[in-house]
Amino acid sequence: MEGRCARSGRLVRLLILPFLAQWASTGLGSPREGPVPPLRGIERLAANVEPKVVAWRRDIHQHPELGNREVRTAALVAAHLRSLGLEVTTGVAHTGIVGILRGRSASPVVALRADMDALPVKELADVPFASRVRAQYNGREVDVMHACGHDAHTAILMGVAEVLSARRATLPGTVKFVFQPAEDSRPDDEAGGAAEMIKAGVLDQPKVDAIFGLHVGPLPHGTIAYRPQGAMAAVSVFTISVAGRQTHGAMPWAGIDPIPIAAQIILGLQTIVSRQLDLTSAPAVLTIGTLSAGTQNNIVPAKVNMSGTFRTFVPAAREDVATRIRRTAESIASGAGATAEVSFSDNGTPVVFNDPSLTARMVPVLERMAGEDHLMLMPPFTAGEDFAFFQERVPGLFIFLGTSAPGADPARAAPNHSPYFTVADSALIVGVRALSALAIAYLGDRPTR
Ligand SMILES: [Zn+2]
Ligand SMILES: [Zn+2]
Repeated sequence: MEGRCARSGRLVRLLILPFLAQWASTGLGSPREGPVPPLRGIERLAANVEPKVVAWRRDIHQHPELGNREVRTAALVAAHLRSLGLEVTTGVAHTGIVGILRGRSASPVVALRADMDALPVKELADVPFASRVRAQYNGREVDVMHACGHDAHTAILMGVAEVLSARRATLPGTVKFVFQPAEDSRPDDEAGGAAEMIKAGVLDQPKVDAIFGLHVGPLPHGTIAYRPQGAMAAVSVFTISVAGRQTHGAMPWAGIDPIPIAAQIILGLQTIVSRQLDLTSAPAVLTIGTLSAGTQNNIVPAKVNMSGTFRTFVPAAREDVATRIRRTAESIASGAGATAEVSFSDNGTPVVFNDPSLTARMVPVLERMAGEDHLMLMPPFTAGEDFAFFQERVPGLFIFLGTSAPGADPARAAPNHSPYFTVADSALIVGVRALSALAIAYLGDRPTR
């Protein structure tokens, strides 16, 4: 979950889903009827593996690795998957691991994804397995911490691999375990993450029919949160360079001052969200995060540079807002006799778009695994996640798992990316149950081809 997941504390203002009943008859039975046959036994298998999941999580937490450097973590994962008899491919898109578990039929194929990278954050959390690791990052030495909880994701998916392996003989399809590097951090000059794993063919051979993933965060302990369609924002990154003509600050009329033009552009950009988009259909956010110009008080500079990000929740909105940014910046600049050069970075991510029918089918499964009153519908979340790249290719569902301490007020919990971020061990089993059940329900939930 990228930078703005620090705001995930807002997720606590969720609504208990009032309309579960409408989904309860989608082929999996009422949530209150108890486990249907494909899900029976998941709780017991998850409980068996729970101590290992906790131990793995603590071990990975104490040995965090930055994006594209998850060498130790990947070795731990690969050894475990091999011990379960899975077909394992290593070194996928740098340090990624893919494990294939073939059940009693080849298809359908469901993928489960965990990310493995840590962040350049100095850990301040008071836990006995706190990280003391330092590493090189973009040419300097930094502290490293699993401040986004990807240690939990990795350990949970290792546990799921063990649960599903135990049911291999009856599993009506294939499960592909995708352990992904570099979701949150990687050196500026390196490609990585979900997009690179897709390029490496992770969704092919065998072709993946659907994909599931989860993210931990400061929601109430053991709670699962989800949202159909746009759940997390498409992240777009842009720069604008406003070029005027340099002159003496005492005689601005002798040049073209790009500073007030840049100021007008910033205000103009803010009217895109507030005045031009239909915010009743989907929210959007536009932020200018950097602004730089000039060398001294009495020189009108030649240029102003700024950069920003915008967040959208509908696939088509991304291109639309980009067009409006370009038009606004260029028109304001040209109206003042200057020029504005707008460019959009390749570093963004698409919207985390949860397939509506897949989500509806899986909601009763999630409720059964989380327990009644522990499933929440989340509002749109303006952070991004590169899981979205998988969802551009195949139907997918990305859920959130509450890992606040039991009984703690999530609103007071340290958010993801905080140096105080912690994950409650006792909530991990809910993640193991949920991902295991999603895979089994998906595979068993349709006729075997
Ligand atoms: Zn993150
Ligand atoms: Zn994350």
